Amino acid sequence: MSRSYVIKPELGKTYPFISHGKGIYLYDKDGKRYIDGCSGAVTASIGHGVEEVAEAMYQQAKEVSFAYRSHFSSDAVEELGAKLAEWAPGSLNWTFFVSSGSEATETAQKIAIQYWQEKGRPTKNRIISRWMSYHGITMGALSMSGHVLRRKRFVPLLEDYPTITGPYPYRRPAGMSLEAYALECANELERAILRVGAEQVAAFIAEPVIGASGGAVVPPDGYFQRIREICDKYEVLFIADEVMTGVGRTGKAFGVDHWGVVPDLMTLGKGMSAGYTPMAATMVTDEIIETITQGSGLIMAGHTYSANPQSAAVSLAVLKYVEKHGLIEKAAEQGAYLLSRLQELADELPLIGEARGLGMLCGLEFVKNKETKEPFALSEGVASKVIAKAFEKGLLIYPAMGGIEGVAGDSIIVSPPLTITKEQIDELIALLKDAIVSVQQELKDKALIG
Ligand code: PMP
Repeated sequence: MSRSYVIKPELGKTYPFISHGKGIYLYDKDGKRYIDGCSGAVTASIGHGVEEVAEAMYQQAKEVSFAYRSHFSSDAVEELGAKLAEWAPGSLNWTFFVSSGSEATETAQKIAIQYWQEKGRPTKNRIISRWMSYHGITMGALSMSGHVLRRKRFVPLLEDYPTITGPYPYRRPAGMSLEAYALECANELERAILRVGAEQVAAFIAEPVIGASGGAVVPPDGYFQRIREICDKYEVLFIADEVMTGVGRTGKAFGVDHWGVVPDLMTLGKGMSAGYTPMAATMVTDEIIETITQGSGLIMAGHTYSANPQSAAVSLAVLKYVEKHGLIEKAAEQGAYLLSRLQELADELPLIGEARGLGMLCGLEFVKNKETKEPFALSEGVASKVIAKAFEKGLLIYPAMGGIEGVAGDSIIVSPPLTITKEQIDELIALLKDAIVSVQQELKDKALIG
């Protein structure tokens, strides 16, 4: 092919062409093999080239791929809805299907606002979110996101939503216990609600484990329990953004299950269809659906591909595959092993400030100085350097660089498919270590680290 007319993430850069994938491996057209150490974008959680999913896709495509949701429902959509209701906690029994995580969070935002309108309280329309968060790229989703890099150019056009800091245990005040820190961070929500006025606040949105802007930052126990109490006290809906953490990634069906907390709305994406087709969802409680049913009876959201039979059949096949192969339990078990191996790297290499994670959602944070935890500036792009070096060596990892300039450092996410074996984790760690050691050396040579 002589010339490309496709807009790529980095203009002017040449990208290898993908050929095929099997399990945790991807192969490019030059025959190079890559370990998918991040499931693409924390997405391909059941691995590549799964026959059952390809078969489900084929069978549904033969019957009917697309029938518009305003005209028909389908077996695939209904069965998927029932399966999700079975998996989800509390009365989160209702699912609105969309095609991407951004649409899922923006739909949650809209349903939360609509819920209060239906209740005759239209001023409850602000969404409180957190710095160090990512909820999507569309304007509504970005308004709720604290991802500095992605917001940068659009700040004047975004909703000026109230923002609080999320828990970041690695950088908590010196001497503060995790228990006290959990309460301190959660109580920030209460202060924000009181500042803005509860009658202005529709919802609070948070990722159970911070992903793209923090690198698998796990909150201390007690944080989400207190968040739930505060939301109840001030009649603020709690939206759990499970786009990255949902469907088994953290070793439980959903991230919030680690703390026994039931949100009012929950968003899913990524692992929901494991990359086989675009699919995402917003789940809501019985109470929300009853309120809207008794009110206007119409959900003001949705788009052409919402609830299409093809994506639903694929997602259903993925969920069945996760169940059949016990992948949630595997994520917990092998994830603990992965974290222990990352911890070894952190103990050994000065460039790594912290290894952290939950289940198969792990991360590393790079620092200039391990003792003082001095972060790199985002502009120094240390995580990007590690990612590029790993790519060269045949390992894919995911950036988490949207932190708070001058406060948070550069991080990466290590989140292979949930099917990865112990031996394959060892293989992944060896390549990752090579990549980090070579970036560390380069920084030393330039006297950028001690
Ligand atoms: N929420 C979270 C927690 C995410 O990690 C992402 C994607 N990284 C999104 C929302 C947006 O999903 P999408 O890219 O599918 O629009």
